[in-house]
Amino acid sequence: MKTLFWFRRDRRLQDNEALIAAAKQSTELYPFYVFPGDLDFLTPLRQASLIESVRSLQHAIPSGMDTSIGKAPEEITKFVTENKIETVFATRAYDTEGMAEQVEVANRLKEMSIPLVLVGSYYAIEPGTVRKDDGTPLRVYTPFYKRWLVNGWGNPLKLDVSNVPWRATGKGALPTLSGTTPFPVKASEEYALETWKRFKSRALSNYHEDRNKTDLSGTSNLSHALAHGEIHPRTLLAELGDSPGEEVFRKELAWREFYADVLFHNPNTLTDYYEPRFSKMRYDSAKDSKAFAAWQAGKTGYPIVDAAMRQLVQSGWMHNRSRMIVASFLVKDLHIEWQHGARFFEQHLTDFDPASNSHGWQWTAGCGTDASPYYRIFNPILQGVRFDPQGDYVRRWVPELRHIEDTSVHEPWKLIDGYTQGYPERIVDHDAERAESLLRLEEIKAKS
Ligand SMILES: Cc1cc2nc3c(=O)[nH]c(=O)nc-3n(C[C@H](O)[C@H](O)[C@H](O)COP(=O)(O)OP(=O)(O)OC[C@H]3O[C@@H](n4cnc5c(N)ncnc54)[C@H](O)[C@@H]3O)c2cc1C
Repeated sequence: MKTLFWFRRDRRLQDNEALIAAAKQSTELYPFYVFPGDLDFLTPLRQASLIESVRSLQHAIPSGMDTSIGKAPEEITKFVTENKIETVFATRAYDTEGMAEQVEVANRLKEMSIPLVLVGSYYAIEPGTVRKDDGTPLRVYTPFYKRWLVNGWGNPLKLDVSNVPWRATGKGALPTLSGTTPFPVKASEEYALETWKRFKSRALSNYHEDRNKTDLSGTSNLSHALAHGEIHPRTLLAELGDSPGEEVFRKELAWREFYADVLFHNPNTLTDYYEPRFSKMRYDSAKDSKAFAAWQAGKTGYPIVDAAMRQLVQSGWMHNRSRMIVASFLVKDLHIEWQHGARFFEQHLTDFDPASNSHGWQWTAGCGTDASPYYRIFNPILQGVRFDPQGDYVRRWVPELRHIEDTSVHEPWKLIDGYTQGYPERIVDHDAERAESLLRLEEIKAKS
């Protein structure tokens, strides 16, 4: 059978369930990737990370891979017609836009009597599988995690790449970058496996202790690879034992699976409030907001917030602890709706993942799946002192504070020379904004 394999966020050859299913049924297999036509919204770093991921896949496939730029339904139907394809295979997406896209592709192909065969997922366990005894979805992470563990997952799947009847027509459109990147971006299946190997030997054994420290490289940095599908979580899970570091790492992978499950059951929460009453809260406008601009530029006057935002803009990645701190600051100190922050993250994060991003934001904003009985408001000074104890993280990303040698870098207003190198003063008073945030919470509580 003449088959098209539509690569999506599963850009790898090994442990790819859908690709293996396609290879089994094909006499000729055409790999294909469609770049979205509207990449300009993304930063050059994010564009480069996507292009590099596709380019490396093209090189890894013996025949090469056709690519095009546009909308998947049009580009796929065009390719199918031109090359007399009989079946299209792809990995099934479970996120809001991915699901809408595959429905549209399936409908267009149906008109041509061509099946779209969707297999597997980007997860160890397909979203929608883990449920309560009564069949309803789980709304809280810990019970989800317990059931997810009991459910279990399959072993990694191997493909003999040289035995696949690869074909390509040689059409390889790649988008051009809208700007330059500060460093060459690496993204490939090979690089993902190397990153995993490096993390296992250097940091996994201390992961449970180091993962929250912003000043250390204590985490895996595999989020890009997982978001791009250059590695499948099955591959990682299969190699994890039961040491404290391994156990906590498995729990973090499960957060990704949990958020995918939550988004699958509530596709509107990509941009809507998971807890709808929070849409009634009083928020400040992000439009023309000087505070929002200062947050984006890393110039709020709160060192840990500014270090984190500059890390995001300059490197395309941000530490998990920092993501929580800046998200809390935007929503609870600046009173700006989480969607504005999530959109800024989407523009910059090379590991952007719709479920983890929208629900990471909502968890921190207090309108998501957080099971905590109280309204969490991060204190940016205490967070800085706790998770960047020597101040190395701040000094790395905020040059105006490099002359301050110790932990007092988190409170430059207490120092005689705190502002001598041009660091901005605080744009808001945290204690006052904390009180304001709680007041606004009381208002919606009174309404509901
Ligand atoms: C506001 C906010 C936005 C976020 N947006 C994204 C996003 O767009 N894409 C993304 O991949 N992650 C997102 N996260 C989750 C988390 O910050 C990143 O996955 C993590 O920082 C990636 O670094 P790492 O690979 O070194 O993580 P590690 O600590 O090594 O964790 C291993 C893997 O587990 C998963 N993981 C870890 N923590 C979380 C978490 N809290 N939620 C979901 N998955 C997790 C990731 O896939 C990660 O690669 C967000 C978190 C917050 C608070």
